[in-house]
Amino acid sequence: MIAPGKTIGVLGGGQLGRMLALAAARLGYRVHVYEPQPGGPASQVADKEVNAPYEALAALTTFARECDVVTYEFENVPAAPLKAIEGLTVLHPHWSVLETAQNRVREKRWLRDNNFPHAAFAEVPAGADLAAAIAGIGLPVVVKTADFGYDGKGQLKVRSADEVPAAVRQFAGRPAVVEQFVDFACEISAVVARSANAAVRVFPIAENIHKNHILDFSIVPARVEPAVAAQAEKLARLIAERINLVGVMGVEMFVTRAGGVLVNELAPRTHNSGHYTIDACTTSQFEQQVRAICGLPLGAVTLLSPVVMVNILGEAWARGEPPWSDLLAQPNVRLHLYGKAEPRPGRKMGHFTVTARDAGMAFELAQKYQARLEG
Ligand code: AMP
Repeated sequence: MIAPGKTIGVLGGGQLGRMLALAAARLGYRVHVYEPQPGGPASQVADKEVNAPYEALAALTTFARECDVVTYEFENVPAAPLKAIEGLTVLHPHWSVLETAQNRVREKRWLRDNNFPHAAFAEVPAGADLAAAIAGIGLPVVVKTADFGYDGKGQLKVRSADEVPAAVRQFAGRPAVVEQFVDFACEISAVVARSANAAVRVFPIAENIHKNHILDFSIVPARVEPAVAAQAEKLARLIAERINLVGVMGVEMFVTRAGGVLVNELAPRTHNSGHYTIDACTTSQFEQQVRAICGLPLGAVTLLSPVVMVNILGEAWARGEPPWSDLLAQPNVRLHLYGKAEPRPGRKMGHFTVTARDAGMAFELAQKYQARLEG
């Protein structure tokens, strides 16, 4: 057990690291952040920050030696330097989990090889025939770059044959995957935690609504049949076990119109759709991450109230400082801001949660408060 008072190292200094650091501090841990850019969301609340590129082995080695356990909050940390610090400290989740999840080809292969349900896909190595791969899957499809994809970055929906040449041009020379377009009934996700002693807990399933490929609302409990939620929970648990997770993982899924569940994406860290747990569950996903990587007992994942989480993007600053007073005056709202200096469009600046008697009512209120925030 890595006891309270010890030092947790976090690779990546964004909001996920910030909320992890806050949860870790509450349990008496010290937190060191390793992040190329100074002064970010996590550094502001950490005991120490180190600013160096992820590939700077000397800096990373020194950082690792000062920490009792190291984790990552950013999916695009290159796996190679992580391999290099293995043995210097405890690293959770293992670098191989990150290596699988951060590349869409490896991720899809892993799902296929381990018999998890997923959309049909074809691998397209750099320079291979994308048009043939699209024809093989059949239109409509979504083409995604193999590397560095999140929030819809590096992906393109191809609906008809006349859109194929543009896709071929856009992805020329880059490794990609072609995925069957899923005409889903809704999108859901599970945040699962697994500790070093193999205990597993899955938080209540969230229903996710995206805008411009970025998460807009998470509704909990998800408005799906109990059997669908149970299937999603089971998949998340099995994935955590099969991939040998120690830590927390977000599992994004599609619910098909026939009521089936397909796994879309794995993120071996806390997940945006799990932010609701801070305000609405016995244990937050961030405290659970601390517990999992430090070998503490996992916390209860009981939902204390129906809840909706709303992301606050840079657009909310279009007319200057957003009207926080209005939000803060609501007794059922809790506001979280990440301390980012520059509100760029599409940038996640914060989120708020709304609790209510049921998820439908929470969603109505959330939409109302969001509209007021955006003016
Ligand atoms: P991703 O970056 O893979 O998580 O995709 C971002 C979003 O794009 C998803 O949350 C879906 O809304 C949409 N999307 C991705 N892949 C597909 C697909 N195969 N079929 C339909 N929608 C998709």
